[in-house]
Amino acid sequence: MQVKQELKQVKSIVKKEEGFNPFKMAQEQFDRIADALNLDEPTRELLRNPLREYSFAIPIRMDDGTMKVFRGFRVQHNDARGPCKGGIRFHPQETIDTVRALAMWMTWKCAVADIPLGGGKGGVICDPHNLSEREQEKLCRGWVRQIARDIGPTRDVPAPDVMTSGQHMLWIMDEYQTIMGGQYSPGLITGKPVDLGGSLGRTEATGYALVYILRECLKELKIDITKSTASIQGFGNVARYTAELYTEYGGTVVSVSCWDQGESTTYSYYKEKGIDVKELEKITDRFGTIDKKQAESLGYKVYPGDEWLRHGVDILIPAALEHSITVENVDQIKSTVKVVICGANGPVTPEAEDVLVKKGINVIPDFLANAGGVVCSYFEQVQSNQNYYWTKEEVLGKLDNKMTDAFYKVWELAKRKKIRVSDAAYMIAISRVADACKMRGWV
Ligand code: NAD
Repeated sequence: MQVKQELKQVKSIVKKEEGFNPFKMAQEQFDRIADALNLDEPTRELLRNPLREYSFAIPIRMDDGTMKVFRGFRVQHNDARGPCKGGIRFHPQETIDTVRALAMWMTWKCAVADIPLGGGKGGVICDPHNLSEREQEKLCRGWVRQIARDIGPTRDVPAPDVMTSGQHMLWIMDEYQTIMGGQYSPGLITGKPVDLGGSLGRTEATGYALVYILRECLKELKIDITKSTASIQGFGNVARYTAELYTEYGGTVVSVSCWDQGESTTYSYYKEKGIDVKELEKITDRFGTIDKKQAESLGYKVYPGDEWLRHGVDILIPAALEHSITVENVDQIKSTVKVVICGANGPVTPEAEDVLVKKGINVIPDFLANAGGVVCSYFEQVQSNQNYYWTKEEVLGKLDNKMTDAFYKVWELAKRKKIRVSDAAYMIAISRVADACKMRGWV
């Protein structure tokens, strides 16, 4: 996502939710499942807080010669099942509680996907728009100098996140190697470019993995994928690869939507016969904006952005941003919809999920549906540690197996216990981590 747009959205969410504490929300989610699982008190105490937190100063000499001190964080929520894994965010409104919540959610995401990693998250309070490339490089090198002893391929493996990229990861990896006396350590970090230790298939991973899960879910619901229709919010990385593979499987995506950079609003693009990803990509600029006029000339109907959820389709795929389906708009969803599968993080509010579940709609939660990204990052780390790289087919084949398996474990528990899919996913994730802590003798 273009950084300016991303920042604007984050600011508006922060504004809307002043007083909202994501860590408190993550703890409440955890407490509810801990009650259902009857977890003992020490295990609850251990899991509802991070194992370790680091907060440190990063002094940088700016391009104009002045010194500026930035604040960096790393939170390691739990590493009972393996090294921590999670992004590094560059964000002007970063708070330790946001980082704590995101680290905890990473623990559950890795556990539900059954990869041997725990949850971590980190960041630096900064606005990269106001920093030159040189200053950003210094910030990355400064960040790793402060935390190098406490991260690493067998401890904690960072990755790109909000406003950080593969380039930032390479600066961090390079500085880490210097600190470690020249030890080649590509397994320190993921999200690297393919030529420097990245994994083939990472670009497609999140969208494709969502479709692997959707494919199995439709089988379970006895819906023929080739006769099914979907509407997607977004036309970025997740949305495009979701649309691509779902279409390859014979499904019809009738609508996608995007942020229009020029007009500072959102539009959705509708074609009853099905959108063509490649055709739309050709008329999408570097900001992710689809050209309205050209789309119309290609036979697309252009609607306001929120129209994406009002189409009479079988599947809704929010794959753009948080809080897209809320109590304010959930009633506009048509009765044709059988599945809402979350590509974005937190696109359905808990209250809206209650409404959807009551209507008999299957909601596949974000931390299962979009776990393909972290599973592929895990594959990247495995390949980097071996210094031996797999073909794209191998990566995607392994990804399909992992996601399919993760889906069925969750789906079967949900059916057996007659509970919603997100509760089953949390139960599996939390019990796996709790069991690992117990087996190690931590609680
Ligand atoms: P992206 O930046 O590539 O795409 C975001 C898309 O959303 C763009 O098409 C943008 O135009 C559109 N958009 C923004 N605001 C919109 C609005 N109000 N209405 C409609 N469309 C809007 O981002 P992405 O990588 O595709 O990620 C999308 C979501 O998925 C984010 O929540 C991200 O955190 C989550 N996610 C991504 C990955 C991954 O591997 N890319 C993994 C896990 C979760």
